Amino acid sequence: MSENLNPFAIAQAQLDEAAKVLGLDRDMHAFLRQPQREFHFTIPVKMDDGSTKTFQGFRVQYSDARGPAKGGIRFHPDETIDTVRALAAWMTWKTAVADIPLGGGKGGVVCNPREMSPGELERLSRGYMRNIARYVGLFQDSPAPDVNTNPQIMAWMLDEYETIMGHREPGVITGKPLPLGGSAGRGPATAMGGMYTIREAAKVVGMDLKGAKVAIQGFGNVGSYAAKLIQEMFGAKVIAVSDEFGGIFNGDGLDYHTVAQHLANTGKVINLPGSEPISNKDLLELDVDILIPAAIENQLTAQNANNIKAKIIAELANGPTTPEADDIFESKGIYVIPDFLCNAGGVTVSYFEMVQNAYQFYWSEAMVNERLDNKMTTAFQAVNTMAQEKKVYTRVAAYLVAVSRVAEAVRLRGWV
Ligand code: GLU
Repeated sequence: MSENLNPFAIAQAQLDEAAKVLGLDRDMHAFLRQPQREFHFTIPVKMDDGSTKTFQGFRVQYSDARGPAKGGIRFHPDETIDTVRALAAWMTWKTAVADIPLGGGKGGVVCNPREMSPGELERLSRGYMRNIARYVGLFQDSPAPDVNTNPQIMAWMLDEYETIMGHREPGVITGKPLPLGGSAGRGPATAMGGMYTIREAAKVVGMDLKGAKVAIQGFGNVGSYAAKLIQEMFGAKVIAVSDEFGGIFNGDGLDYHTVAQHLANTGKVINLPGSEPISNKDLLELDVDILIPAAIENQLTAQNANNIKAKIIAELANGPTTPEADDIFESKGIYVIPDFLCNAGGVTVSYFEMVQNAYQFYWSEAMVNERLDNKMTTAFQAVNTMAQEKKVYTRVAAYLVAVSRVAEAVRLRGWV
C-alpha cells in the first residue's frame, strides 16, 4: 500500500499514537482530533490586466484552549484545507510545547505569488484580511508570516484590519516590520530557536558542532538564516543548500554571504560559481552530520528514509517527515528534533512581539534572544526527558508533552 501523504491524516495519526501512549480519555481524544473552527472564503482580486481573479482562502482555528489561536498564513499554489488543518494542529502542539499562552491556527491562500505583481499581492493580502477581520484580534487569533508571506504582507494586513476596526491593535498580527511594532529578532527567530535545539541535541548525541557537516533544504527566511547562524554560532560547515529550483554543493563548505549575494542577484541559489549542482533528492541523502529540512511537508518519506545518513535531523520545516519515515529513523537511531519543537522559535518571538505590542514597550535583540534561548532550552529538555523516561521516539515525546498541556486546559475549561 502506498503511503498516505495527506498532511491532516498524518497529523491525526501522530496524535492517535500519542493518545495511545498517554492513555488519553476517548472523548478528549475525539475532541482534539478536529479543528474547533474554520473559515473558507473567496477573495476577488482586481488584476493588473483589468480582469478579476477569484482566489480561495482558508483560516483554521484549531484550538484556543490555552489562549488565542496563533499561526502563520501561507500563499501556495498547492494549498488545500487539509494542509491548513494539519499546520493549525501542529501550531497547537507547538505553542503548548514551547509553553506560551496561545492556541494554534493557520491560514492559507491558493495562489502563486511568484506570478503576481506587488499591487496584486497587496490587494490579495487586504482581501484576505477583510474576510477574517471579525474573527481575529489580539485576544482571538493572531496570524503571522509563513511560506511565501513576509513582513510587508503583514503590514498590509495590519493596516486593513486597523482601518476596518477604527483603532490601532498591532498585536493582531506578528512578524510585522519594526516601524509598525515588529519585534527585534523576529526575522531570524525560527532559525535561531532551531539553533538552540541543535546545540542541546548535539550534547545528547555527543557531537562536536565545530566543523560538523550540514545540508539545508530550503533557502527562504528559515533556511537562509539557518545557514548563516549555524556557521556563525557553532563553526559548522554547510556543504549543500537548495531552493525550489535546485541545489548547490561544495564539500569544503559554502559561504553564507556569497550564496545570499548570488541569490539576491539571480533569484536562485543554483549556478553559484565554485559550487556543483545537486538535486533536492541527493541533498537529503548526503553524508552529513546534520540535515535541516527547511522547506515544506512530506520531504522525508518511506521512499528515501533508508538512504538518510545524517545523525541529527533538525526539522525547521513543518511536517517534513511522514510516519513511515519516522519508523525508519527510529530504527536507525537518528536523533530527530521534531518540527513543532525545532521550529517553535518563530512563534515564541511572535508571542514576545504580542507582549511588547500590548505594553507598547520594546526589547533589545539581545533580550529577545536570551528569553528565546530560555524557552527553547526548557522545551527541548522537557521533550528529551520525556523521550528518555518513557523510552519513546522524540516526536512521540513532544506530542506527550504538548497534548497533555492542551488536554489539561480543555479539562479545566470544562469542555470535555
Ligand atoms: N509560521 C510560523 C510557524 O509555523 C510562525 C507562526 C507565528 O509566529 O504565529 O511556526
